[in-house]
Amino acid sequence: MDDAPARRRRIRRTGPSTRLRVDGPILAGIVYERLVTSNAEGAQGGAKNIVIVGGGLAAVRTAEQLRRASFEGSITIVSDEEHLPYDRPPLSKDVLRGEVDDVTLKPPEFYDDKDITVRLGSAARTLDTGAQTVTLDDGTVLEYDELMIATGLVPRRIPSFPELAGIRVLRSFDESLALREHAGSACRAVVVGAGFIGCEVAASLRGLGVDVVLVEPQPAPLAAVLGEQIGGLVARLHRSEGVDVRTGVGVSEVRGDGRVETVVLADGAELAADLVVVGIGSYPATDWLDGSGIEVDNGVICDASGRTSANHVWALGDVASWRDLAGHQVRVEHWSNVAEQARVLVPTMLGQEPPSAVVVPYFWSDQYDVKIQCLGEPRSTDIVHIVEDDGRKFLAYYERDGVVAGVVGSGRPGPVMKSRAKIAAGAPIADVLG
Ligand code: FAD
Repeated sequence: MDDAPARRRRIRRTGPSTRLRVDGPILAGIVYERLVTSNAEGAQGGAKNIVIVGGGLAAVRTAEQLRRASFEGSITIVSDEEHLPYDRPPLSKDVLRGEVDDVTLKPPEFYDDKDITVRLGSAARTLDTGAQTVTLDDGTVLEYDELMIATGLVPRRIPSFPELAGIRVLRSFDESLALREHAGSACRAVVVGAGFIGCEVAASLRGLGVDVVLVEPQPAPLAAVLGEQIGGLVARLHRSEGVDVRTGVGVSEVRGDGRVETVVLADGAELAADLVVVGIGSYPATDWLDGSGIEVDNGVICDASGRTSANHVWALGDVASWRDLAGHQVRVEHWSNVAEQARVLVPTMLGQEPPSAVVVPYFWSDQYDVKIQCLGEPRSTDIVHIVEDDGRKFLAYYERDGVVAGVVGSGRPGPVMKSRAKIAAGAPIADVLG
């Protein structure tokens, strides 16, 4: 396909990003732009023209699934970032700790070999589902036969916080590098929000020698996802590493003069801080869909295969709310879910048979030297059976209506993974407790 005369391409690499300097190679910082200079014949062989808006994991998984399924038409990835698609989990872990700089998902050759056009630094601004066009911020209009929405999330900020240096969020590679640079000179950090990202940031900052206060309005870290009991074990882990964990209390005010200096909690406590990380969750990046008619409600509303409310428009990844087997709309913000969705969406879109295997949701979180892993769909309202706990590593099963609904382990990968079949089968809880 690369030799097709009507698709002469120009590839431009403009070198590493100069916005931030770090030691060592930063492949994710390479600005890679492939410009299609002549595409007059459109998609080859009458095949379709697919545009993917968003340049993260979902975009890459979709593009590679398309080629794997022998799709020979054109694929264009549109990303508002200036980096090739990269992996986000290391941003709060290895990248923040300065152990890894290259988190690029695929090297530039991948896009050449698979004949995938990547438009970096281009934000989609509007979608016209009637004309089947996407307009970019530079005025470029892209036509599509099929459109994938893969725009992920935007981190929430706290609007009442003043504009002070030292208040940060973490979602992107650039934000991770900026946080890392700041952490290098910081002494006292307050992490607002003890969800997964807040907990991982707290752990990484401790690894960098920063004093950390972790503030969470819920009774325990991760309580909304894993419940209070397991959240309590996570709080214990952080306290054992020297983190000052304050639960059941929120932040009422941040003070400073140009730079953040003090964080005031709702209980009146005043915490000195030269770094504040806001980790209070994210919202779906759907602003650009305003006026398009695409149904959005905490994410792009999709059926069980990723179809949106508009013909020829699909969505997957963190931005998408898919219908589950029980008929509920569910939006999942975990890495493995992206590939699972691409495996269903792509064949469905191409008129092929999607896989029928039961998918057991999975996610992990690395904090200090332990990997917390979760299989299934635990809820904070489930009955929790803690079957192992040595003070740091633990294993717990979640019971709902008498069956095993999920398993969570800290430093216990074997038993967690072995539970997959039982969770998939909806086995009685006694089967795992026995
Ligand atoms: P994203 O990766 O967010 O990609 C969306 C892309 O679209 C972004 O590049 C964005 O800039 C771009 N975009 C947005 N709007 C536009 C627009 N209008 N035009 C063009 N481009 C646009 N999951 C786990 O299971 N385990 C973990 O340990 C874990 N750790 C994580 C740590 C961090 C710091 C973060 C942020 C996430 C973590 N995750 C983890 C979640 C996992 O990374 C996500 O589920 C995954 O990245 C989702 O991929 P996505 O492509 O849907 O979204």
